[in-house]
Amino acid sequence: MKTVIEPFKIKTVEPLQFTTRPRREEVLARAGWNLFCVPAEEVLIDLLTDSGTSAMSSRQWAGMLDGDEAYAGARSFYRFEKTVRELTGYRHVIPTHQGRAAERILFSILGGPGKIIPNNSHFDTTRANIEVSGAEAVDLPTEEGLAPALVRDFKGNMNLAALERLLKQQGRERVPLVLMTVTNNACAGQPVALGCIRRVSELCRSYGIPFFLDACRFAENAWFIKTREPGCRARSPREIAREMFALADGCTMSGKKDGLVNIGGFLALNDGQLAQQARNILIVTEGFPTYGGLAGRDLEAFAQGLEEVLEEDYLRYRIRSIAYVVEKLDALGIPVYKPAGGHAVYLDAAAFLPHIPPQEFPGQALACALYLEGGIRSCEIGSVMFGKTDPETLAFRPAPLEQVRLAVPRRVYTQSHMDYVIETIAAVFDRRRELRGLRILSAPPLLRHFTARFEPL
Ligand SMILES: *Cc1c(COP(=O)(O)O)cnc(C)c1O
Repeated sequence: MKTVIEPFKIKTVEPLQFTTRPRREEVLARAGWNLFCVPAEEVLIDLLTDSGTSAMSSRQWAGMLDGDEAYAGARSFYRFEKTVRELTGYRHVIPTHQGRAAERILFSILGGPGKIIPNNSHFDTTRANIEVSGAEAVDLPTEEGLAPALVRDFKGNMNLAALERLLKQQGRERVPLVLMTVTNNACAGQPVALGCIRRVSELCRSYGIPFFLDACRFAENAWFIKTREPGCRARSPREIAREMFALADGCTMSGKKDGLVNIGGFLALNDGQLAQQARNILIVTEGFPTYGGLAGRDLEAFAQGLEEVLEEDYLRYRIRSIAYVVEKLDALGIPVYKPAGGHAVYLDAAAFLPHIPPQEFPGQALACALYLEGGIRSCEIGSVMFGKTDPETLAFRPAPLEQVRLAVPRRVYTQSHMDYVIETIAAVFDRRRELRGLRILSAPPLLRHFTARFEPL
C-alpha cells in the first residue's frame, strides 16, 4: 500500500517559532511547570487540543467573505440549517457559539436535582453542565476501554448491561435522557460501534427516554464504523453518520472538532416543544435563533466544514495520521494507548515512567519533558486533572490512568512534523530514568489542571 498523503496542498502558511532549550527552561519555570500557562508563541508544535485549532479550506474562507450578517433570517443561517438537517435528519437546528452552550441549554431544561444522566464517558464540560443543573453525571464505559494495551475495535462503547441495570432501577422518572459521546474523548478518542448505538437506542425507546448524541467527532466515528464494523465497508461516511443520528432523538455538537471551524456549535433535535424551550433560553444568553452567538460568516464556514469533514480522502488521511504515530511509537517499545483513536495519541505515562509514583504526577513530568526536549505542547490527563487528596485523612487518590494526550489539530501539521514528534518522544524515552516528578505549589479547588503551579522534585 502506498503512503496515505495529506489530501490538500498549502495556500497560506504561518511560520513556526523555534526556541532553544535554555529559553524553554526559562519559559516553563515562569509558567510554574504548567503548559496551559505557556504562551503559544513559545511552542513549536502545539498538540494541547484539537478543539478550534483546525485549518480552514479556501472554500471556507470564501464563505467567510460571503457571510450574510443580517440579524434575523440571514441567508447564511438557512444554508447552515439545510446542511445540518440533511446531515442529521433532525427537524430543529439551533446554532450556539460552541458545544458547551448547547449542553447548558439542554441540561438546564432536562437536568435538575434528583436526575441521573448516563453516558459512555462524559466530557468535562458535559459533566460540569449536568452538575451545575443539580443532576448527577454517570459514566458507563466498558472494561476494555480502561485497558491501554488491549487492542479491540470499539473501546469507546457504552457498557450496555450497566445501562440496562440503571434504567431498570431508576426508570424515566429519574433518567431524563441518555447520552452517547462519539468518539469517546475521555476514553482515548476510541470509537463507538453502530451496533452499540442501535442497542442503546432500542433500550431508550423501550423506556420512553430521549437519547442524544454528543456528536463532536461524528465523522471520525463514522470512518471507524466503515472500516471496522461488519457490513459497513461499502457504505459512505455520510450514510453511516446519517444512521447514527437517526438512532437518536437529537444531538449536541461542537463545530470546533468535526465542524472544521475555529468557533461554533449547535443543538439539533426532533421534539418541537423541547426546541421551543431551548430557543427561549438561547435568546436570553446566546442570541436570536438564526445566529445563536455566531456571525453569519461563522455559519457559512461551519456549513462548508460539515461537508468537507465527510470526504473519504480527508477521513482516510485523518485517521491514518494518528495511527501512523501510534504504530511508530509502539514499534519503538514506547507505551502508548492502543489501538489509535481518532483525534489524539495517548502516552501511558505510568508505564513510561514507572519510577515516578502517581502522587508525583508522571504525566505532568512527561508533558514537561516533551516541551523541554522539543518545544512540543501536550496535555496531562491523569492525577493532576483527576487525582484527589482527601481533605481529612490527606490520603491521595490517583486517577484511573496516567496519560499524556497529544491531540492533533485537523489539517494543520504534516507527516514530517509528526516524525519530529516521534523523534522527540523517543529521545525522552531514552533518558526516561533521569526524569523526576513534581509537587504542587498552589492549585485552585476546581479544574486545577488549568492554573496549578508546580515545582520539580
Ligand atoms: C469539546 C467537547 C465538548 C464541548 O465543546 P466546546 O465547543 O469546547 O464547548 C463536548 N463534548 C465533547 C466530547 C468534546 O470533545
